[in-house]
Amino acid sequence: MTSDEFATPGDTAPIAPSIRRAERDIVSLGIAAAGIILFVGTGGEVLPQLFRSWLGVAAKPEPALINALLLDIALIIFGWRRYRELLSEVEQRRKAEEQARALAETDPMTGCLNRRSIGPATDRLAAAAAEKGEVVAFLMIDIDNFKLINDFNGHTAGDVVLLETARRMAALLPAGASLARIGGDEFACVVAFEPNRPERIDQLAGDLIAAASQPIPLEAGAVEATVSIGITRSDIRRTNSDGPSDAKALLHMADIAMYHAKKRGRNRSYWFEASMESELRFRAELESGIRAGIPRGEFVPYYEQQIDLDSGTLAGFEMLARWNSPQFGLVGPEVFIPIAEEIGVIAELSESVIRQALVDAHAWNPRLTLSVNISPLQLRDPWFAQKLLKMLVTANFPPARLDIEITENCLHENVGVVRTLIASLKNQGVGISLDDFGTGYSSLSQLRTLPFDRIKIDRSFVTTLTESKDSATIVQAIASLGDGLGLPITAEGIESAEVLDRLRDFGSFKGQGYLYGRPQSGEATGRFLEARGLLAAAPPVAAEPPAAEPPLLQRSA
Ligand code: C2E
Ligand code: MG
Ligand code: MG
Repeated sequence: MTSDEFATPGDTAPIAPSIRRAERDIVSLGIAAAGIILFVGTGGEVLPQLFRSWLGVAAKPEPALINALLLDIALIIFGWRRYRELLSEVEQRRKAEEQARALAETDPMTGCLNRRSIGPATDRLAAAAAEKGEVVAFLMIDIDNFKLINDFNGHTAGDVVLLETARRMAALLPAGASLARIGGDEFACVVAFEPNRPERIDQLAGDLIAAASQPIPLEAGAVEATVSIGITRSDIRRTNSDGPSDAKALLHMADIAMYHAKKRGRNRSYWFEASMESELRFRAELESGIRAGIPRGEFVPYYEQQIDLDSGTLAGFEMLARWNSPQFGLVGPEVFIPIAEEIGVIAELSESVIRQALVDAHAWNPRLTLSVNISPLQLRDPWFAQKLLKMLVTANFPPARLDIEITENCLHENVGVVRTLIASLKNQGVGISLDDFGTGYSSLSQLRTLPFDRIKIDRSFVTTLTESKDSATIVQAIASLGDGLGLPITAEGIESAEVLDRLRDFGSFKGQGYLYGRPQSGEATGRFLEARGLLAAAPPVAAEPPAAEPPLLQRSA
C-alpha cells in the first residue's frame, strides 16, 4: 500500500514564475500607456494648432512639439502591439499550464485520474455530498491475475485489458463519480450515495464485476479478466481515529477489503470490516514469522505411520511438516504451506524439512519408507529432481525408500515439465504417489500418461466411509480404478476400526490415520521405533516387529 503518495487535500499546481513575469509586464505596459495618454493630452493642443497652420490662419507649432506628438503616436502603436502580444503570450502560457496540470492529474494510458489526484477528488466529492446529506463510497478495484494475463498474452494485450476494463467501468459510473488508476492493475472509484442506501453501491459493484468479466477480444483470441472489489464509506469511523475518514484512510480500508475479496476467491466484492484489519495484521505476522523461522530451524518434520492393512505391519511414515513457532505454538501445514507458497519460500521450507526427515529416517529400519509431500510450485522448478537427488546423496539415503506425494493440482501445471521431472526421479528409484485423489480434477488419461506408483484416496471419503453411501461408492470406484491400472492404493484418514473393516471389503490397501496414532515428532517416532526394535542400528534388523511387541497398528491415546 502506498497511500502515502496521496496528495494532501487542496493541493493545486503552483503558478509558474513565467506567468507572473508576463503579468508584471502588462502592469508596466499599462503605466507606460497611461503616460502616453497624458502626452496625448498635450497633443490635443498641438493638433488643432497644426491644422490651423495648414489652413494658413495660424503659425506652425514648435517643431519640438510636433516631434513629441509623432513620438507619442509611435509609442501608442508600439505599446498597443506589445500589449496584444503579451496577452496572447499569457493565454498560451495559461493553456500550457492547464495542460501540464491535467497531465499531472491523469493516468496517460487510460485517461482516468491518477493516484495523486484521487485523494483531492475524494475530498471534494465528500464535501459536496455532505451538503446534500450524502456520503461517499470508496471502491478499490483490482484486476485478478493480471500478471498471468500479461505473462501469457504479452504486455500489449495487458494494455488492451487495462484500457477496456477502465472504459467499461467508466461507462457504468453515475454522474459526479470519479475513476482513477492508482497502480498497475488497480483502480479506485468514488461515488456519492444516500447513507441509508448502501445497496446502490452493492448494485454498482455487481455491475462493475459483471462488465469486467465479459470477454475482451484480442488479436490472438479473447481473454477473460475478472475484478475483486473492496468497498468502504466516508462515514465509517475506525476504532483508532475519532474523525470521519479522509481519503487516505478510505483507500487503506478499501484496500484491506479488496485483499479480503481476493482471499475469498476473487471476482467478488466486500465491504470493509474492522476484523479484516486484524486478520491482515495477523497474516503479516505469520508471513514474517515464516520467513524468519526457516533459517532458525522452526519447521520440523512429524511422522504419521503408514500400515500395510493386510499384514498389519508398519510400512513406513509420511512426513508432515509442523511449525514450532515461538509466537504461535505448534502450527499445522494447512496454515503455513499456502502462505509459504504465496510468499515464495515453499521450496526453501520444504527442503529444510526434507533434509531433517532424511537424517531421521536414516536411523530407521531400512525397510521403512519415507513419504514426503511436494507442493505444485516446487514442480515448476526444473532443477527440483536434481536438488532432491543431491539431498538423498548427502544424507546417504537410498532413493528406493523415498516416496514423493504430489496432489492432483500438479496436473494443472505444465504436464510436460511434471512428466520429465517424475521420469528422472523414477529413474533413480524414487516412488511417486498421487495424493488426495478424488478431490481435484485429474483426468483418467493423465492418470495413465503420468507414471504414478500409487494412488492415495483422500481422507474425506475414507473418514465418512461407514456413514455415507456416496463415499463408499467413490472408494469402491477408486479401488477398481487402481486394480484396472495396476496401481496400489493407500487409504488415508482411517479413524476407526469400523472404517478399517469396511475398507477391507474393497481390496488390499495400505492405510494411515488417527486409528494408528497422530503424527509424532522425530524424537517420539525414534522412541516408538526403538521400542519395537525398528531402528537401523538395532541388531538384528527384524523384517517384522517381534511377536511379543505390541502390534504396530495399536491405537495411540
Ligand atoms: P496430506 O498429505 O493429505 O496429509 C494427511 C493429513 O491428514 C495430515 O494433516 C494428517 O495429520 C491428517 N490426518 C491423518 N490421519 C487422519 C485422520 O484419521 N483423520 C483426519 N481428519 N485427518 C487425518 P496435516 O499434517 O495437517 O497436513 C495437511 C496437508 O498439508 C497434507 O495433506 C499435505 O498436503 C500438506 N503438507 C504437510 N506437510 C507438507 C510439506 O512438507 N510440504 C507440502 N508441500 N505440503 C505438506
Ligand atoms: Mg500427503
Ligand atoms: Mg492426502
